[in-house]
Amino acid sequence: MRKLRLGLSSREAEIVETVYLDSAVLDEVLFAASRTALEIVGALAGYAIRDAVYISSWKHLEGHVSEDEFRIETCALVGYAEALTTQRMLGIIHSHPSGQAVISLWDSHFAARSPYLWLIVARNQRLFRSYVHRGNGVVIELRSCTF
Ligand SMILES: [Zn+2]
Repeated sequence: MRKLRLGLSSREAEIVETVYLDSAVLDEVLFAASRTALEIVGALAGYAIRDAVYISSWKHLEGHVSEDEFRIETCALVGYAEALTTQRMLGIIHSHPSGQAVISLWDSHFAARSPYLWLIVARNQRLFRSYVHRGNGVVIELRSCTF
């Protein structure tokens, strides 16, 4: 049985500079976000290659969402990761229904304790922001692009 890794390794988290998100994935996330007043959350999968991460698929995680927060069941992330064949589960994306795509206090608290890339979209804006935990509780913003 292959070893399941959720998120980035600490080495990958140290060197990543840019997140490339498949524009079809961004469209799907924004479409889902546009249909609710609550946050939406999903798991992201793709590849980490040197200083870049390519996100090419996602899974909308239904669950405990509200207007300004969400919870994720770890078993849902594991289930998604186990179903992947060539990609890895690398991050989490969620929406800010009324705000901007800027990391909140709660977000940075969680991001600083997790190995996941942390992507945020705001409703009705075609952009996203990406963050990563570099270690020692330091969360930084990465360059965010689509492909
Ligand atoms: Zn947030």
